[in-house]
Amino acid sequence: MKYSAFFIPSLKEDPREAVLKSHKLLLRAGYARQLSGGIYTYLPLGLRSLKKLEDIIRQEMDSAGAVELSMPFVQPLELWKESGRDEDYGKELLRFKDRQGRDFCLAPTYEEVVTDLVKKNVRSYKELPLTLYQIHLKFRDEMRPRFGLMRAKEFIMKDAYSFDIDEDGMDASYKKMRKAYENIFSRLGLDFKFIKAQAGEIGGKYSEELMVFSEYGEDKIVVCENCGNYSSIDEADSISDYKGALESCRQPLMTKLFTPGKKSVEEVSEYLKVDKDCFAKTLIYETESGFIAGVVRGDREINEHKLKKAAGVKNLFLAKDSDVENITGAPCGFAGPFRLKGHIRVVIDEEINNSEYWITGANEKDAHMANVKPGRDFMPDITANIRSVQAGDKCARCSGRLEIKNAIELGHIFKLGEKYSEILNARFLDEKGEYRFFVMGCYGIGVGRTLQTLIEVLSDETGINLPVSVSPFVIAVVSLNAGDADITALSEKIYGDITAMGIDVIYDDRKLSAGIKLKDIDLIGIPFKIVIGNRTIKDEKYELIIKSGNIKEVFDDLESLYKRVKELLR
Ligand SMILES: [Zn+2]
Repeated sequence: MKYSAFFIPSLKEDPREAVLKSHKLLLRAGYARQLSGGIYTYLPLGLRSLKKLEDIIRQEMDSAGAVELSMPFVQPLELWKESGRDEDYGKELLRFKDRQGRDFCLAPTYEEVVTDLVKKNVRSYKELPLTLYQIHLKFRDEMRPRFGLMRAKEFIMKDAYSFDIDEDGMDASYKKMRKAYENIFSRLGLDFKFIKAQAGEIGGKYSEELMVFSEYGEDKIVVCENCGNYSSIDEADSISDYKGALESCRQPLMTKLFTPGKKSVEEVSEYLKVDKDCFAKTLIYETESGFIAGVVRGDREINEHKLKKAAGVKNLFLAKDSDVENITGAPCGFAGPFRLKGHIRVVIDEEINNSEYWITGANEKDAHMANVKPGRDFMPDITANIRSVQAGDKCARCSGRLEIKNAIELGHIFKLGEKYSEILNARFLDEKGEYRFFVMGCYGIGVGRTLQTLIEVLSDETGINLPVSVSPFVIAVVSLNAGDADITALSEKIYGDITAMGIDVIYDDRKLSAGIKLKDIDLIGIPFKIVIGNRTIKDEKYELIIKSGNIKEVFDDLESLYKRVKELLR
């Protein structure tokens, strides 16, 4: 491919909307462009990489025995009503009507469609096990799409679904898929871990997430420095030995404290000159069954998954300011757990029972309350572990020190069991001629997200640095002086030779300065460069530069140069 004939709209400056290094690089190097919030065009370079990544996934899926198909992106809402998930997905499910007034949605996932398909087309145990997969679009109407392809509304995923006659079969299918995932991510050179996870909207019995550690990952993984146990922040437990920082928390017995305009725990603790762990903070949440108040120590965060579990609710989000004002009788920032208006359930973290000197909001503007004791000053409805683990907490297994690492979730695999087959009444005839529900598993990989993660984790100071297997082009032939007839003739010859070798090569034939051309090639991340300039002609020496490590190799003739290229690609 000639650079001048290709379409690489690169940018000189970092785009303002991007925070992540990889997001900036995707835009700057001309891999992708945003059309609208969370909706992207894959530009030709990005698409070439995406296709190569898809091929790696496809090869491993195929050799694990999965069969590829393609299901509709536009789905009848009826099917989602049947499974009950039109409600579970809430506003993330984008719904619309066709011209006949029938309800449709854009697929956020495909369990319903694949289960319906197998229900109508697989009759007997003899046709099982069966694993179907696709690499296809999904759409989730994210509230805050961000970080480029990492959290987009429209995105490309590989999703696979296994159908077995019983649990043992499902376990075997799950194992096969897990192994395929190990192969895929090892081939990409990523450092990953499987972490036991919450099933979320997909549901089922057991699930694991495939995580890649990265400073900017949105997921938090708790790692024990002593026993080496890994868990997701929602699953992690810690032992609390908090007995209350008693002396500093005790206030003079006039219980109400004047805290003008001081709302956050940080502000109030600074103003009153007491430690943050003297505070019990109260947050009001809205759920499908009314409002609840969650209470944790001031220097901690509420874990919403744990709070959901403790309160037995499915949906949970922070209440609107106006609701908080109605419930507490005070502006936001002064909430306390007592005398709340309405039927508000109070859920406290178990640590809250360990002190009787809490400072809380007074449910009154510009005031906090000191010496608040659970059981005396307010009655908790539920006491549970609802706090997020923090770095430095003690491991619940071994009391070792816990550390928090950021990670990016690239895959999620589930043992679904009979969840969907039962709801959608998908059955087959077993050996005895009796009807049984399919036992299912499902397995996802965020393909676009994986591509961006490779850029995030592997890029260097000059630009993108994808592995050879997913780089849009493997070799760049760069003619340093495109106006010189000898240089152009030699460049074209090398370009032709390498193309004939079946290698993806880009020939930078643009009439630009050598500096700009070399910079651009580094930015778009081509692993190997063959540079042709005046010296190449004069000295008859051929230069190959390996991007990774910026290693320069010089050859006396083209034969040895080509031999080396073949060697590097092996
Ligand atoms: Zn431990």
